[in-house]
Amino acid sequence: MVTDTTNPGLGPVDTSHSPHARLQTLDFRSVSLNKGFWTKRVEVNRSVSLRFGFEMLIKAGNFDNLRIAAGSMCGNYQGYVFQDSDIYKWLEAVAWELGENPDLVLSSMADQAIGLIAAAQLPNGYINSYVQTRESIEPWIDLANGHELYCAGHLLQAAIAFRRALGDQRLFEIARRFADHIGSVFGPDKRHGTCGHPQVEMALVEFYRETGEFHYLDLAKFFIDQRGQNGMKGHRSYGPEYYQDHVPVRMVREAAGHSVRQLYLASGVTDLYLETGEQALMDAMQCLSKDIIETKTFITGGSGARFDGEAFGDPYELPADQCYCETCAAIASLMWNWRMLLASGEGRYADQMERALYNNILGSPALDGKHFFYINPLMLREARYLRLSSDLPPHKVFVPNQRPEWHACACCPPNVMRLFSSFAHYLATQDANGIQIHHFASAQIGFELDSKQHVCMDMATEYPWQGAIRLRIVETGVSPWVLSLRVPEWSQSPNLSINGNIVRDPKLVKGYWVLERVWQAGDIVELDLGMEAVFVAPNPRIDAVRGCLAIQRGPIVYCLEDRDQEMKGGLLDVEIDKDRPLLSRWEADLLDGVMVIEAAGQYMDPMNWRGHLYRPVTIRAKAATRPARLVAVPYYAWGNRGIGGMRVWIPEKKRENGKR
Ligand SMILES: [Zn+2]
Repeated sequence: MVTDTTNPGLGPVDTSHSPHARLQTLDFRSVSLNKGFWTKRVEVNRSVSLRFGFEMLIKAGNFDNLRIAAGSMCGNYQGYVFQDSDIYKWLEAVAWELGENPDLVLSSMADQAIGLIAAAQLPNGYINSYVQTRESIEPWIDLANGHELYCAGHLLQAAIAFRRALGDQRLFEIARRFADHIGSVFGPDKRHGTCGHPQVEMALVEFYRETGEFHYLDLAKFFIDQRGQNGMKGHRSYGPEYYQDHVPVRMVREAAGHSVRQLYLASGVTDLYLETGEQALMDAMQCLSKDIIETKTFITGGSGARFDGEAFGDPYELPADQCYCETCAAIASLMWNWRMLLASGEGRYADQMERALYNNILGSPALDGKHFFYINPLMLREARYLRLSSDLPPHKVFVPNQRPEWHACACCPPNVMRLFSSFAHYLATQDANGIQIHHFASAQIGFELDSKQHVCMDMATEYPWQGAIRLRIVETGVSPWVLSLRVPEWSQSPNLSINGNIVRDPKLVKGYWVLERVWQAGDIVELDLGMEAVFVAPNPRIDAVRGCLAIQRGPIVYCLEDRDQEMKGGLLDVEIDKDRPLLSRWEADLLDGVMVIEAAGQYMDPMNWRGHLYRPVTIRAKAATRPARLVAVPYYAWGNRGIGGMRVWIPEKKRENGKR
């Protein structure tokens, strides 16, 4: 491994020189996690998932595809056209991990992968093993479906990760040759068109940030400007929305089409705004964000109501059982909201990140780190089939007892890996006045202010199980600076103290408590978000779950799993009583340690309706006969003890007079 420890080492997004960013991302090594909730996930990712991912990439033929492309092996290409991107995402994850912790095994795996990529690259810089292994296919023939630019984008991101985390230039030089080749083919006075699957836009902006060379930014803008001209003629089943080609990006007012593509494109557009400051781009992104946050986001932070086209649905079309909620869409949402946060400094975007992170995203990998959900439903009927992948043939879609190990379309697992291995990147930022804490985890945070003061602080917390966050200033200079702490949207009675003294009515700006003073080493700031389990009601326009309630405690959404209930197979008959208290208790030995919540309710007597799906309302049902003690576990942990009945939204118990 070729390393250069003098590299500045920023994370996946570097806004340290972006003229229109309100917030600057921190040096990659500025935040190091201490023991806590996230270190466990990150450790499983490092010691299990990344190694397992390498084995799966071997099994699925990804590396052989590169060998065949390089001419060092005979055989047929295996898998989807975008198979190379799985390798690139896995490599990106490995790079962030190696930047934190040297690991000879992972390092050797990465060396092998980079060697295969280098061998497969054509002299002109082009690389795509699908195209190169087909005698009859020329590069750039099918932009709508070929995913060549999509794969290129993931190569660029992996290359940036190796350079920033390790100072390793090998992949970067490969990526640069490919990016330059793309720039020689596409442009205003060259070939027009763009990829059916957005991704390359944000990668090219990041490549510009890494190199300082404007032509990469120009190329990103060119590809963004190509959209909405119906150049791809529309998908035969799902229309131009599927390719994000239905509307020019500056005209977008609502989310439509393939969720991952929509959100990756939005990430690239927001990246472009961060560099150019073009207001029309931000105006469009704010409209899009309003539409998604207010009408198209699941309580778990998931996106994508429809299996058809893996797409956003209509406003308020948020079915619990037949939703899609692809893991990649939740990760893409986090990535986009991060960029919107960097552009605006507004905490509501961090709230969206948190909702997706602790629920939809965290629920994708099994606790063992070796099984992954692709689709993340909010309800599974007892003993019925669960479609867990987007694409497996019918005889394989039903995985009886656990998340699949891997998927024919394996976009989600390595996406989870790269997010977890770069998790620390998302905790904090800085601006000219001080530092902002967006997410809470035990960590040490060090940074240098514009005034050249070096600051080091220690964040200690049992988050997400407890709402107390304790920040201790370890080192600081003599000038005043501002500490901003996000107050999450779910926190109803937060408190703040400095050195034991309660701060009355702290200044709240854009969802952050803003504390300016001359800090001293030893100062202690305590934020208590008051974490209690609460019932959450849906907007009544969400027909699919009207009359239901969910349970949430802090950022974590809960669900009922059939296996935890006294009456097995009763989840379809259950009602929950919101007038009875929710009781939280810690279970150290359950699901790697979780807070369990007990609620009271009742089971409706299924005999009431036996033989009837519908009947006149004049026929009265008998009163419910059986009280229920309901046990809820975090949604992210469901399906780890076998996959059975599960529901997030629970019908609310009617009062005696029939009212809710
Ligand atoms: Zn995916």
